[in-house]
Amino acid sequence: MSSREGSLDAPTRHPLDWRNAEFYEQGPLYAELGRIFDICHGCRRCVSLCNAFPTLFDLVDNSATMEVDGVAKDDYWKVVDQCYLCDLCYMTKCPYVPPHPWNVDFPHVMLRAKAAKFRDRGAPLRDRMLTSTDRMGKLSTIPVVVQAVNKVNSTPAARKLMEKTLGVAAAARLPSYDSRTFRKHAERSLAWPVRDGARTPGKVVIFSTCYVNYNEPGLGHDLARILAHNEVPYRIVDKEACCGMPKLELGDLQSVERLKDVNIPLLAPLAREGWAIVTAVPSCTLMFKQELPLLFPEDADVLAVRDAMFDPFEYFVLRDKDGLLRRDFKRPLGRISYHIPCHARVQNVGQKTREVLEWIPETSVNTVERCAGHDGTWGVKREYYADSMKIGRAVFRRMAEAEPDFVSSDCPIAGRRIAQGIEESGAPQQGRKEHPLTLLRMAYGLD
Ligand code: SF4
Ligand code: SF4
Repeated sequence: MSSREGSLDAPTRHPLDWRNAEFYEQGPLYAELGRIFDICHGCRRCVSLCNAFPTLFDLVDNSATMEVDGVAKDDYWKVVDQCYLCDLCYMTKCPYVPPHPWNVDFPHVMLRAKAAKFRDRGAPLRDRMLTSTDRMGKLSTIPVVVQAVNKVNSTPAARKLMEKTLGVAAAARLPSYDSRTFRKHAERSLAWPVRDGARTPGKVVIFSTCYVNYNEPGLGHDLARILAHNEVPYRIVDKEACCGMPKLELGDLQSVERLKDVNIPLLAPLAREGWAIVTAVPSCTLMFKQELPLLFPEDADVLAVRDAMFDPFEYFVLRDKDGLLRRDFKRPLGRISYHIPCHARVQNVGQKTREVLEWIPETSVNTVERCAGHDGTWGVKREYYADSMKIGRAVFRRMAEAEPDFVSSDCPIAGRRIAQGIEESGAPQQGRKEHPLTLLRMAYGLD
């Protein structure tokens, strides 16, 4: 094995060999986990990123040999369970990722372990419910049902019962559902002429996402209004399923494939017709940009969608570079504390949201680039909630320190968690929680 320290080459990522039976077999899986754990134990750079690494290092340090070979294989799962697949260790820390011969892909060996666990043992009802965002959304937004669901989610006694029976932390704030779903109520775009730029297609498909469709349709309307203000024709997809990220986090790769088979046949022709595809939720964008191409590297349609996919602020910045974005801001926003979520960071597009917010006159942006600890469904689970709030604490403090008028995160779920953390910290000025798309819509004076 090479002992070369770090890598000078650009990182690459190997596709996941998830259709191979060996991917799930205990022997080869334990061997690969042990190999990577051994490298990590010698390196320890990631100790502050999440609880997976401290869990691993404690297991090693407390073992008889004080090496990975002294850790019981059954205890490997303690590490796996602490990983919420934020991808930060791969993208921001690890010098041993491919093409380095050590070939360390910590998040994807965690995913492999989660997939093996899901195949062997399935998942508890709570996890299956939390990751069925589409089904839960459809059910919960039925008129009458929606009021009942929202009432239950915001009633302490009901939440205590939910914690006891289902394992959803009573203290974790959950999003409410909205029966006026985005996809049903999105305003139709006017037929502006398509102005393609050198860097940006001049027409946009909005992939609404389960969260925007069922929980915060206002974010979809904000995106549509910003596009309309810039005379970019847009449309929504005829049919849409969950992007698959929650099922990926569960290790349920068959469901990821099923969802892919709904979305990709609808999105790929649009990508080939020259539409940009934009979603307002970074994890969903990342799913199309990174995870689906690594699971289905031979699928030309998946790759076509990947190449058409934009984070909304990535699109706006490139549109500006093309000379096709308006900067006619009418409303200053004062002090914004802005959080970059992990799944936006690992898209490797730079701090595009901050860049756009900083264009707004009389507006200052306090940027916090650190994990807020929510991480998909992980932070609402009873057994992880306290850890999750602990991971987020530094973010809550640094966001509140700037005495913001607004607190904002590209990830609406992280945004809600940050608002909760700041409120519970008792900070004197907490700021109003608004998504960056809402802030941009406000700055344009589109109230
Ligand atoms: S992917 Fe994120 S949660 Fe998982 S081990 Fe890496 S840094 Fe920790
Ligand atoms: S993932 Fe890479 S950087 Fe992090 S502890 Fe392991 S070897 Fe070190």
